[in-house]
Parts: sequence; C-alpha cells; structure tokens
Amino acid sequence: MSTQNSTPPAQSGATGIPAATGIPAATGIPAATGVSPSPYDIECQYVATAPTTLRCSKCNRPLMTKDARRTPTGYVCPYYVKARVATFYTAKPEQYVIVALVALALGVVGGVVLRLIGNIGLFAIIITLFAGPAMGGLVAEAIRRVLGKVRGQYFWLTAAIAFVVGAAYFTVLPVLVLFLVVSPSALFALIPVVGVGLAVSTMIARMRI
Ligand SMILES: [Zn+2]
Repeated sequence: MSTQNSTPPAQSGATGIPAATGIPAATGIPAATGVSPSPYDIECQYVATAPTTLRCSKCNRPLMTKDARRTPTGYVCPYYVKARVATFYTAKPEQYVIVALVALALGVVGGVVLRLIGNIGLFAIIITLFAGPAMGGLVAEAIRRVLGKVRGQYFWLTAAIAFVVGAAYFTVLPVLVLFLVVSPSALFALIPVVGVGLAVSTMIARMRI
C-alpha cells in the first residue's frame, strides 16, 4: 500500500483508454490474457507516469513496475487490487472476534492434545508430524463452517495468533520452564511446539487462498 500515493497526474486516459500508446480497448479484452471477467472486475483508472512495457492484466493499461501487484493471473494495477479487496473481503470487526474465539478455543484443545501426544515418548514425533497439520486443517475448516462465505483479509493472521495463544500454555510454556531449569527433557518438550508450528502453517495455507 506504500505506492498508493502515486495518483494519476492528468485526466488523460483516466476516463477511457490511453490513446497515445495504441493499446486495444480495455473493454472485452480478457481474451488476450485468458482472464475471465469476475464479479470484482472493475474499471481501472491507472495511468503510468513513465514509459513501460508491462501491462495490467485486468485493464490492459501500461503498468509501471513500482505500481504492479502480482496475482496468480498476472500483474495488476493498484486500482484493481483496491477494488478487489473491497468487494472480496466483507468481514466485519465482530466476525474477526468470532475467528479469534474459535481459533483460541481450538488452540487450547490442540495444545492439550499435542501435549498428551508429546508425553507418549518415541512415537510422539511421528504422530505429531501427522496430528499437527491435521489440527491446522481442522481449525481452518471450523472457521469456514462458522463464518460461511464471509471472508476477511486478515482472518488467517487473527486465527494464527489466537491459536498460538490458546496452545501456548500447554506447549510453549513447558519448554520455557524446562529450558530455564536446564532440563534435558526440554528437547522432548519441543515436540508439541513443533506440532503447533505445523498446525499454524497448515491453517494459514488453507486460509490464505
Ligand atoms: Zn488495471
């Protein structure tokens, strides 16, 4: 968002297509890039302030590298990103609270489970390698069930922090205590922490789509 201050200097091209560059009309152009029109396709108002060969994959206007945003379907201008974010992410603050509470509660449960697994002994490592990611997937799924189609740009971050906070008491704290007293079992106590890490990374991967 740091380059948002680069507002178009002139009105030329803001209303239509930059004429001088001779690019095809912005309307009905998706065929060129194979991008199908989507609900958040908007009229980009972007105007490049210097010559460039890069094009916005949504409006096909010349796009400066410093303003380009990378998406799975190509580089787009800041206008498109802004409009997309506004229509795609519809979450209200109270829904962030719900995400946090669900992730916190499941974090406590997950922390206890990982702690119990960690106590098993030798097989704890193997079980944790499976249980961690499974747990993360479960949390992501639970949040999706609770919130339905509501999307939040930072749901993933909210959930990750809440999950770690919930799980920390049973996983991170014991390690800190054991390290403080320089106990050799601190290394074994690390297993649940690894589990939390796996859970969180899986959860983030599922939620950041
Ligand atoms: Zn654009």
